[in-house]
Parts: sequence; structure tokens; C-alpha cells
Amino acid sequence: MRLVFLGPPGAGKGTQATRLANELGIPHISTGEILRAAIARSTPTGIEAKAYVDGGELVPFAIVLRLVEDRLQEDDARDGWLLDGFPRNLEQAHALEPLIEKLGQNLDHVVFFEVSDDEVVRRLSGRRVCKTCSETFHLEFSPPPDPQDCAPRQCEIFQRSDDSEDSIRNRLEVYSRETDPLVGHYQESGLLVTVSGSGPIDEVESALREALGHRR
Ligand code: AMP
Repeated sequence: MRLVFLGPPGAGKGTQATRLANELGIPHISTGEILRAAIARSTPTGIEAKAYVDGGELVPFAIVLRLVEDRLQEDDARDGWLLDGFPRNLEQAHALEPLIEKLGQNLDHVVFFEVSDDEVVRRLSGRRVCKTCSETFHLEFSPPPDPQDCAPRQCEIFQRSDDSEDSIRNRLEVYSRETDPLVGHYQESGLLVTVSGSGPIDEVESALREALGHRR
């Protein structure tokens, strides 16, 4: 199966994508994760992307397209993939189409996770991530065992640099200007599946399974 996950920052795309990709045995390809890893390793791409990611701006098209192009050609992506965070605007969506056509593939569904702005701000401002195992916590809803570290694994908890108040506000603006038009775009092409992302994780997962189950 080949899927795109769409939705505002903090909609829970990453969490649901990890679960579903595991279940389906396909790679979860998160452009945000790839960029954060490049930034952490200070690769040339990471150095170029850092200011955009920190400020909640979209990283230039050519950089992101190259990352996706390379990743989709890896062996583990031959029989399916789940793209999380790409495409993020119409330009990227138009570039994805010939790319997957060239690979002799096609997109099965685009899942749109619907969540209100208030819920997004609440989720993102309390989000904390473990540096070592990438597990995500929330100060209010699923607090780490200790605010400073997720003992007993001795991991280090941090707040993503783009989860600051200013950056969250900017990411929401960028989302509504750039990414939201993709909902109409994929609706028109008949690929869109809408799932409410506002409940607890397990509830959203059930809604997602049900929505895709009807279309598999
Ligand atoms: P995410 O983890 O999906 O929230 O992405 C974090 C940040 O990475 C975004 O705010 C952008 O700065 C950058 N990013 C991720 N995916 C893309 C994309 N498809 N196009 C441009 N920038 C992206």
C-alpha cells in the first residue's frame, strides 16, 4: 500500500504513521525526521535546512524533493511506503505524481487527520521527545516518568526547537496557506480519506483502520 498522511502539525500523523507502517510492513518516511537527523549530524543538507525547520518555515522545494526521490528508490520502499509530511503544498504534490509514475507505482490513499487549531497548540506546546529513542511524551496527557529524563532507559527529554510558541504559530500559518489546499486537491482526485485526529491515540487508530478497511 502507498499512502500519504496529511494534516496540521500536532495532528498525530507521526504516531499513527509509525503504528500503521509497522503493521503493514512498509517504511514510514517522515521528511521532518529525515531533516532533523540531517541537522543533528550537521550534513550539508542539515546545515542548509536548519534555519527553516527552527522557524517553522518550509525547507526549499529542491532539497526536500531530492530527499524524497532518493528515499523512494531504496529497496525497502519497493512494495509500499507511507509518506508523512510530504507533500506539503501543491508544488510538491505535482512533483510527486511523475516521480511515483516513473517508479511504476501509484498512490492508494491520502489520509487527512482533522484537528482544531486550539488542540494543535495544546498538543505541540506540551510535546516532549526523547533524544535517544524518539518516543514522544506530553507534559499533560502522557508525561514522561521524570520531567528531565525518561528513566529507566536513561534517555534525555527535550522540546523540539520548532515547538516554541512563535514557531508553532508560524507553522500553523504555513499549514493553512501552503498545505491546507491539498485537502481539496486530493478530494478532487478521489484519494482523500478523512479521519478525526482529535481523540486519544487508540481511538484515532481505530478510526483510521476503519476508514482504510473500507477502502482496502
Ligand atoms: P514535521 O516533523 O513534519 O512537523 O516537519 C518539521 C519541519 O521540517 C517543518 O516545519 C519544515 O520546516 C520541515 N519539513 C518537513 N517536511 C517538509 C516538506 N515536505 N517540505 C518542506 N519542509 C518540510
